[in-house]
Amino acid sequence: MHFTRLRLRGFKSFVDPTEVPIEPGLTGIVGPNGCGKSNIVEALRWVMGETSAKRVRGGEMDDVIFAGSRARPQHTWAEVALTLDNRDGTAPARFNDAGELEVTRRIEREKGSTYRVNGAETRARDVQLLFADQATGAGATALVSQGRVTHVIHAKPSERRQLLEEAAGITGLHTRRREAEQRLRTAEQNLERLDDRLDTQE
Ligand code: ATP
Repeated sequence: MHFTRLRLRGFKSFVDPTEVPIEPGLTGIVGPNGCGKSNIVEALRWVMGETSAKRVRGGEMDDVIFAGSRARPQHTWAEVALTLDNRDGTAPARFNDAGELEVTRRIEREKGSTYRVNGAETRARDVQLLFADQATGAGATALVSQGRVTHVIHAKPSERRQLLEEAAGITGLHTRRREAEQRLRTAEQNLERLDDRLDTQE
């Protein structure tokens, strides 16, 4: 699965609909200071499920919405759509019948975000897992933001291990394991309660 297209509307400085084709061999984006190069990388991180407002420069998640300029009023929403080529069939089973996936995240001021995959509303967690399984995602080592290298050098062993696991594409497995363990605990508690009831009826 690889990225083929990024579309932005109302996201940071990209107030007008903008399409960025991600073609094989693309190695960089050049442009004058302040033209929006970092905003494109932030849009990628954001659509893959970034939940930390701190990591999307600004502070509040609503700060990703076009804040207005002298000539134009602020936007009330922002949307980023990332298209993925899934002809190799590596998407999780529930998405795997599609040769192309379009993951969309939309935010409305003071209302939060919604995610869609090929038009169908999807939980944030499922979008995050979709990318985690591909060894990419909002926290991926492939996205090297300013200060990240220094952070890795000073990271604790447990944080370094997290980076290696992320690179190996197994962070999604940990999430699923935690969820399975939680379900198991709930089932065990239910069984205990059932035993108690049976005891009182005997
Ligand atoms: P540099 O080469 O200096 O790092 P860059 O090309 O990476 O610059 P960005 O940092 O992506 O540029 O873009 C910065 C621009 O985006 C600034 O002009 C800033 O005002 C604008 N910007 C950021 N957030 C918003 C927002 N919410 N609404 C409108 N404009 C925004």
